[in-house]
Amino acid sequence: MLATGTALLARDGAAVAAITTYTLESTRAIVLAAERLGRPVILQAGASSFGAVGREPLAAAALASARAASVPVGVHLDHCRSVEEIEACIELGYSSVMIDGSHEDFEANVAVTRRVVERAHEAGVWVEAELGALAGDEDVSSDTDHEDGAMTDPAQAAEFVERTGVDALAVAIGNVHGFTPRPVRLDLDHLAKIAAATPVPLVLHGASGLPDEDLLGAVERGVVKVNVNAELRRAHIGALTADVGDDVRKLQQLAIDAMTAVAAEKIELLARRS
Ligand SMILES: [Zn+2]
Repeated sequence: MLATGTALLARDGAAVAAITTYTLESTRAIVLAAERLGRPVILQAGASSFGAVGREPLAAAALASARAASVPVGVHLDHCRSVEEIEACIELGYSSVMIDGSHEDFEANVAVTRRVVERAHEAGVWVEAELGALAGDEDVSSDTDHEDGAMTDPAQAAEFVERTGVDALAVAIGNVHGFTPRPVRLDLDHLAKIAAATPVPLVLHGASGLPDEDLLGAVERGVVKVNVNAELRRAHIGALTADVGDDVRKLQQLAIDAMTAVAAEKIELLARRS
């Protein structure tokens, strides 16, 4: 069922995996993995996923799959800078949206986030925002070294949440989008300070390749939504190199099987209570 409201963000010691989809195959794989484990999941049909296939077709597939699922499935707009696009996705039936004003200065980020929160809450849609600067790109891993981003400041996070009324906050604690050439470690002490200063659930982006202990340590300290993307992309692209003659269905099935396995691994790991 389509999970509306913030129930998926309940701080119960576990976190929900929010997995990016670009295709019908990945949508299918993510929902199948959640159903097999009997766990909720969030389908991230984000602004940057619309490029090749179009916003409405991708969103329609995600929403239809969520409604047909036997477990709660949220449909989330990841990383969006455009208020117009957010409004369009709310119209389509998204259960949550992310306004990313992290590239703006603090006051501009507060203003745009506040505007989105007002609009989204009217429609019963919850909102994630980001404070601090995350290095890397959410759609492609880089083989060059990343610049360090600016960490989220705990006091500023408290003020941001208070002034915007946002429902969830993505934090920068050393995390980097995509796979990275040098290993990334999270600053869990810094995360604990942010969590102590802010009353809202925290979101971790850029979790690819992190050691399980860092991921579970983050969940223990208040992260309730962990974004997953690069691992599924790798599984998807790996499956597409198989020789299946001219039977597209075989290729689709191989891709779905490969992505379901990866999605299930992540959902299960994040469900592990410490
Ligand atoms: Zn992100």
